Amino acid sequence: MRFDRPQWVTESACVPRQPLDLTGQTYGQLTALRLAPSQSHHTRWVWRCACGNEREFFASNVRQGDVTSCGCVAAKRHAEVAAKLQAQRERGEDIRRHGAIRSQKALERATSWAEKRRIAALKRQHKHTLESWRQMRARCTQQSHGDYPNYGGRGIRVCERWRESFEAFLQDMGPRPDGHTLDRKDNDGDYTPENCQWATYTTQNRNSRHCKLTVDDVRAIRGSTESRAALARHYGVTETAIYLVTTRRSWRDVA
Ligand SMILES: [Zn+2]
Repeated sequence: MRFDRPQWVTESACVPRQPLDLTGQTYGQLTALRLAPSQSHHTRWVWRCACGNEREFFASNVRQGDVTSCGCVAAKRHAEVAAKLQAQRERGEDIRRHGAIRSQKALERATSWAEKRRIAALKRQHKHTLESWRQMRARCTQQSHGDYPNYGGRGIRVCERWRESFEAFLQDMGPRPDGHTLDRKDNDGDYTPENCQWATYTTQNRNSRHCKLTVDDVRAIRGSTESRAALARHYGVTETAIYLVTTRRSWRDVA
């Protein structure tokens, strides 16, 4: 039985083919947890690696042994090579030997590769927090962003530590709790560890600039067919504020 067969083939058959149930089956370090939501004609599964990571892979790739772990094994191997070469270099070995230059390059390559893998895993693991970080940077730096006039355009900046590194942001703020957004305590202050908190919509409503909306404004916004960006410009609030008003996450008491 093949698992990478395109669905249109199975659909043309009289009986639709059910993907084989792999739940609980283990190949290498990977154990099948559940069928992933279908994004293509191929069957993808969510796998748990022995290291605890969860990742999606095509069933066929795992069953054929092309993939045997979430990537942690290779990352670990690269990290070990990097550590070994680093130790050699610190002991002063290899400096004048023929392979010195090559091993220096190998060290750099292995180190950067292991580092990239580590950051990529961190981003996969903290998708929501990553989205907050990306949006924060976009609001402050991308002039094409709808909220730019209220952020970057007003001189609001992201501190250097966070601008450069998602990991630093995650370390300082912790993962974003469900139903929370990134909030600045001082609305004219920058995005810095001191000025930021994860806030629920309710907390944020009290702090943010859309307090300046009146009840009449809120009614007008809800009745309007203008775009969110146009409304935000007109009332001098963020697009997020308009979104919160129109979806009744804020100003709930206004009919
Ligand atoms: Zn793993």
